[in-house]
Amino acid sequence: MYERGEVIVSTFPKPEDVRRIADEKGYIIMAHNYQIEELQQIADFVGDSLQLARQAIKVKTDKILFLGVDFMADMIKALNMDKKVIVPVKGSTCPMANCLRREDVLRFKDMYNAPVVAYVNSSAEVKAVADIICTSANAVDVVSALDTDVVLFCPDKNLASYVAEVTGKKVIPIPGDSGYCYVHNYVTDEEILELLNKYRQAEVMAHPEVPSSIRKYANFVGSTSQMEKYPSTSNAKEFIVVTEKGMIAKLKKLYPDRTFIPVHSMNCYNMKKNNLKNTLSALIEEKYEVELPEELSGDIKRVVERMLEITEKPVQH
Ligand code: SF4
Repeated sequence: MYERGEVIVSTFPKPEDVRRIADEKGYIIMAHNYQIEELQQIADFVGDSLQLARQAIKVKTDKILFLGVDFMADMIKALNMDKKVIVPVKGSTCPMANCLRREDVLRFKDMYNAPVVAYVNSSAEVKAVADIICTSANAVDVVSALDTDVVLFCPDKNLASYVAEVTGKKVIPIPGDSGYCYVHNYVTDEEILELLNKYRQAEVMAHPEVPSSIRKYANFVGSTSQMEKYPSTSNAKEFIVVTEKGMIAKLKKLYPDRTFIPVHSMNCYNMKKNNLKNTLSALIEEKYEVELPEELSGDIKRVVERMLEITEKPVQH
């Protein structure tokens, strides 16, 4: 039963109430860049998967409320097994992360005898059998750093093709054609051309999870953390942002004098399951706690730490 500074969970709680309860209960709030703007505003830290992993190893408090999807929550928990990690919604899952099973990875590994690079958007079981993991921010660095010309890459076929393009290595996607993010994979030429026609001076920033047929329109291809930096290197005033549209809030905050144009179809239903109301309930009731078996957490920690080691010393490519 909650006692101090009691708040009734109304249909529309105020951001300041949610923040206050988090402080009173001793939670820090970590959120992914694709969360809704109100949640980004109350978070202590907002970032992409790589930034979240870096931040997760530095957490000093005993309690973390995480706003994102389940594979990210598992990673935060693996790096903080001694802490309580809660999420507002159970089953806020990523279809791409769940498109591949551990057995499939092991079968490909046997077939090709090549190292497995697992994109962070994969299940805990898949990460546990990977040789190393990567995020979209460091996939190119991680694959470049491996002492081999052939790698198996799972599960995103579009990111695999981008990494192959940049590194010149043979990057074999597993599971193949069925590995993609529905938010990024289904952007159409028509949508981009319509925006380019309307905003003729705009530059295009695209996430590497989009297919190569869409990357061809981009002035810049990069992860969301790399998109945060790009406008500071460009003279453009308008940017068409080809990634999940939650990213627009962060870009607007960073560059209030520029215009960021979303692709309206790019909405991740799973990321948007979190809202102020269920976040407030989660804090008051201190649930849902993320649980991860010890054996999986050790494996995940190992591959995340190996990735961070490589990322701290970026290789030339
Ligand atoms: S944006 Fe795509 S990859 Fe990210 S959580 Fe949503 S479905 Fe998964």
